[in-house]
Amino acid sequence: MAASRPPRAPRAGRNGVVASSADAQAATSAANSPPAPRDNRQARLAKLGLRSDWDYLLHLPLRYEDETQLTPIADLPIGVEAQAEGVVESCEVVFRGRRQLLARLRDDSGELVLRFLNFYGSTQKQLAVGRRVRVFGAARAGFYGGLAEMVHPRVRVTVDAPLPNRLTPVYPSTEGVPQAWLRKRIERALRDVDVAANDSLPAAVRARFHLGDLAASLHGLHLPQPDDDRVSLSERTHSHWTRVKFDELLAQQISLRTARELRARQQAPVLASRNDGTLAQQLLQALPFTLTGAQQRVWHEIEADIALGTPMHRLVQGDVGSGKTVIAALAAARTIDAGWQAALMAPTEILAEQHFRRIEQWLAPLGVQIAWLAGKLKPADKRAAQAAVADGSAQLVIGTHALIQEAVEFSRLGLAIVDEQHRFGVAQRLRLRAGQGAPADEVPAVRPHLLMLSATPIPRTLAMSYLADLDVSVIDELPPGRAPVVTKLVSTARRDEVLERVRGEVQRGRQAYWVCPLVEESDLIDTPVDLTAATTMYEATRALLPDLRWGLLHGQMPPAEKTAVMQLFARGDIDVLVATTVVEVGVDVPNAALMVIEHAQRFGLSQLHQLRGRVGRGAAQSYCVLLYDEPLSPAARERLKVIYETADGFEVARRDLQLRGPGEFLGSRQSGMAMLRFADLEADAGLVEQARDAAELMLREHPDAARAHVARWMGVRQTMLDA
Ligand code: ADP
Ligand code: MG
Repeated sequence: MAASRPPRAPRAGRNGVVASSADAQAATSAANSPPAPRDNRQARLAKLGLRSDWDYLLHLPLRYEDETQLTPIADLPIGVEAQAEGVVESCEVVFRGRRQLLARLRDDSGELVLRFLNFYGSTQKQLAVGRRVRVFGAARAGFYGGLAEMVHPRVRVTVDAPLPNRLTPVYPSTEGVPQAWLRKRIERALRDVDVAANDSLPAAVRARFHLGDLAASLHGLHLPQPDDDRVSLSERTHSHWTRVKFDELLAQQISLRTARELRARQQAPVLASRNDGTLAQQLLQALPFTLTGAQQRVWHEIEADIALGTPMHRLVQGDVGSGKTVIAALAAARTIDAGWQAALMAPTEILAEQHFRRIEQWLAPLGVQIAWLAGKLKPADKRAAQAAVADGSAQLVIGTHALIQEAVEFSRLGLAIVDEQHRFGVAQRLRLRAGQGAPADEVPAVRPHLLMLSATPIPRTLAMSYLADLDVSVIDELPPGRAPVVTKLVSTARRDEVLERVRGEVQRGRQAYWVCPLVEESDLIDTPVDLTAATTMYEATRALLPDLRWGLLHGQMPPAEKTAVMQLFARGDIDVLVATTVVEVGVDVPNAALMVIEHAQRFGLSQLHQLRGRVGRGAAQSYCVLLYDEPLSPAARERLKVIYETADGFEVARRDLQLRGPGEFLGSRQSGMAMLRFADLEADAGLVEQARDAAELMLREHPDAARAHVARWMGVRQTMLDA
């Protein structure tokens, strides 16, 4: 069989799962994959999360195909899937730029070209000249007005087989698990399991939330009736989907609520101010500004939380520049006052270092001992810092995620603060919460409080679901005197104008960032960076404006050099800082009034918003210039339009969620957070609310059913993700 492997693996569909068409393997086993040996198949099924009958029942179609009709070749619509039947006129392997299989199919109305770029010898055998076959696929116009063609149609050899009388479900699958096999196995499960008698939702709950019959839904989804609406079934808006989506959301809500209740039973230090003139108060008095109303409110929320003996689990959301750092410093001060240690983690070394410098300025004069801990410290310095943390002489530790990765021992960790939390995986978050980098199951008796700061606002539906075990505080007010950043879209063809603008800003005494994208994107620091992009840009633009003072900053520079450049820029000794996205988060230089983003079309929405947030921090009118290369893809055009039209981080996040979906939005692929398979948080927001109420009812009145429901619905999640 090995000799007949296709040159490339079949295309991966949603979830990275190969969605080959129904019966594809049965008919053109060639074009997809050779049948897998049995035990091999078991492993593959396990990977799809398919073990029990219920797993199969809940393995629902990705979409449906209509094979109930035959369309005359002359009437085949362009770009729409349809089925035709005809006699093979010719079939040959040709070289047209690459090796391919070309066949011609004729019926009474006309002729159609079938084109295969990947094929097995058996495809060729199937298309024997003179044989009658059925093909399913979307036709496209032929070249130069020639015959219409189908690329990689599904081929079925007909010996006058009757047409199916219902829609064909197409299941998520993987190589070696044919659609036909899946359909049979699922049909068996539908016969063997009495779904109605084994509904995990008690009748009272079903009645209360007006839920449909699960058995009817599952039958309707797996075995749609001939007259069912293919579009609403495929788009998951059909009423059969409602019950399934509800059950899935309910399972999610139950498990989140359970996690929250577990947390409420845990112990955490009581961080209350012990007397007047506390550190937090001294800090407030020493600040060169007064807190905004929103900052005050959020600080009071935190203050109240950490004074309780149960672990706080709070996310502070505030748009870039809203002043989250001082909130972190206040919380740390209160912790230290109460005799505990605080830790502050940031996603990049540059950001961590900036926090360190700023907070040191604030707290060191008040006598606080602060340790600096980053991945690239000299071994001796690192050991010294770790020792100070371990013996408790360091009251506050600031650093990168190296803090957790290197198993730092705290003497009395009372509060862990994670800045820009959306850049950390949830797993990392939980590890820190468990304390001391211990695995989550070795939980210490007293847990630290957890405070997360994020400039990426979490849309309401997400907050209600994935983050339902968080309390959320919002800083919905910027410090006074900030003018909104003016955003401009400029084609690279007009680069000269941008250079003039840079010169103008520098002449007015302002500074500028010039950002180039990384080719290899990564959320972690110290990962490979496309150095040439930044370095080349630096050399090229510097040559064009040689009288300005230029600086270069990228992720692979030695830490000391990075720090030096950042300090020069912060002091105003560099006019233009050419940088990779290392400046994306948190960097704060109020005199910088211009941000130029090179190849802006390559950045994601939240990234663009974060980058833009680096300017507009001082009193001067600030500008963000998005330089883009033409032609723009529709998706890139849409992103740039959003960022051009919207200054509000919440709105940007909402659009980001719409464009990308929640998985990517939260970075959950790395974090291993369970994903929804069927429900859509935006489209099904109403169901999320109901599921939340139902979860409360289930846990209160039907705790056993609640557990059973979660086990049934959440069991396969993780494996679906890994697939
Ligand atoms: P972010 O929320 O993006 O982390 P920062 O904490 O970096 O914002 O704050 C942005 C800038 O605003 C900093 O220079 C900070 O000192 C300043 N700042 C914070 N709060 C206030 C305030 N209430 N009034 C004036 N300036 C403030
Ligand atoms: Mg910040």
